[in-house]
Amino acid sequence: MDCDRNQLSFVTLVALGIALIAAAVFFSGKAGIVNASGRAGLAQRHGDDPVLAKAYRFERGGWIYVHLEGAPHDIGYQHGYLLAPEISDAFAAVSSEMTYTSKRDWNFFRRAAHTMMWPKIDVDYQSELAGIVDGMRARGYTKLDQDDIVAMNGFMELADYYVPWLNKQTQNEAPAAKSGEEHCSAFVAAGSYTKNHQIVMAHNNWTSYNYGARWNIIFDIVPQRGYAMLMDGFPGVIASDDDFGVNSDGLMVTETTITDFHGWDPNGKPEFVRARKAMQFAGSIDEYVKIMLDGNNGGYANDWLLADRKTGEIARFELGLLHNKVWRTKDGYYVGSNFASDPAVLKDETTFDPNDMAASANARHARWDELMAANQGKIDTTLAEAFLADHYDTYTKKTGPNRRTLCGHGDMATEGDPAFARTPYNPAGSVEGKVIDTHMAESMTFVAHTGHPCGTNFNAREFLAAHPEYSWQASTLIDMDAGPWTQFRAGEHAPTGEAEEK
Ligand SMILES: [Zn+2]
Repeated sequence: MDCDRNQLSFVTLVALGIALIAAAVFFSGKAGIVNASGRAGLAQRHGDDPVLAKAYRFERGGWIYVHLEGAPHDIGYQHGYLLAPEISDAFAAVSSEMTYTSKRDWNFFRRAAHTMMWPKIDVDYQSELAGIVDGMRARGYTKLDQDDIVAMNGFMELADYYVPWLNKQTQNEAPAAKSGEEHCSAFVAAGSYTKNHQIVMAHNNWTSYNYGARWNIIFDIVPQRGYAMLMDGFPGVIASDDDFGVNSDGLMVTETTITDFHGWDPNGKPEFVRARKAMQFAGSIDEYVKIMLDGNNGGYANDWLLADRKTGEIARFELGLLHNKVWRTKDGYYVGSNFASDPAVLKDETTFDPNDMAASANARHARWDELMAANQGKIDTTLAEAFLADHYDTYTKKTGPNRRTLCGHGDMATEGDPAFARTPYNPAGSVEGKVIDTHMAESMTFVAHTGHPCGTNFNAREFLAAHPEYSWQASTLIDMDAGPWTQFRAGEHAPTGEAEEK
């Protein structure tokens, strides 16, 4: 007994000693957070894990900046570890909105991810997705598995493209899942249109506020293969997905979605995989197009706006499932507001009416053309920021935020707009914005703004009180605070005095 007790005491002492050392390491790590490199804190706190030592996060201007670096599984692991609380929170919003709008349960999406998507995903991205799950588990978040994360990565394509296609295949008379809501306003301009003949590119992301309030990640990724990338993004998702970014070879990328698109190929490669791959491996407009076309599944069909800072060339790449077309120039502009341009795409792949000027996509198209013409030769990043915040409605000829203005407010009355007729006062619209020019692209820099680019805050409680028909969102709808415009650069750390890592 004595012997046992002595052993116990010894064990207790050893345990106490380890705890004290761990505490000392923890607090020295905490103290080391605000240093020039910012890496010491993370490495000490997590047992000198060499995978986590390369990664870090800090917060600025409402954004969470994460630096990820290394082999595919390492990048995923860092992503899952550093953003575990945000991924868990985002998953709740995604799973509730996808199941509500599609009238399918979450297991349906898990099965689609497992049987349809996973076998088509490149091995490197399978590793990265598995890494996200492992990283979350290492942080103590054990509820989500690989199928959950893959389905979440497909959140822009499964409910709105796959489900309507499946309904049609199975003659399911359930209401169309696709809401017909528009996604995003964007432009790219070059040559005589811009100040100093730089390329200027800008984009505001339109989603539900339920998603948009969480669309606040700046991903700075240095992969083992391919180009480094700086892009905005959503917790747990490996592609930018809204999309906006620049890679280290000078390719600048954004897009707006094609309204009322239909089409899906279950044997294709998920859009989120192709989009991430193109951002990572395309050094030219041609390479971008080639990667997006390889295994095209029709999901999340977009008009891609592209630019190559090396050549000064800009392009619009309209990517349907049956048809696609590329327009390119070194002197001009392309705008995006969810309208398709190729008559073949319009006729065969959409139900969209390009002549209804009450429709948001057409009204914003007209506004973009007005702004480009009125500012020819003057367009720069400052004007681009103002364009993204624009509230002029070309249909009513009045100024005021609604879902027909470049800065979209879906929760505002928009008389005559067909999407508003389908879903009045929908809490959706512009949820953040980004701007870049050639000079910024050279150092992989852009400016970004959380929330509505005009600066209007969204208050979830007030909205739900006024519009109880959206109470199905009550458990996940949160406030969406706006701004300020904030600059981010690849490879940067938090300045001394700002907290890095959490
Ligand atoms: Zn606005």
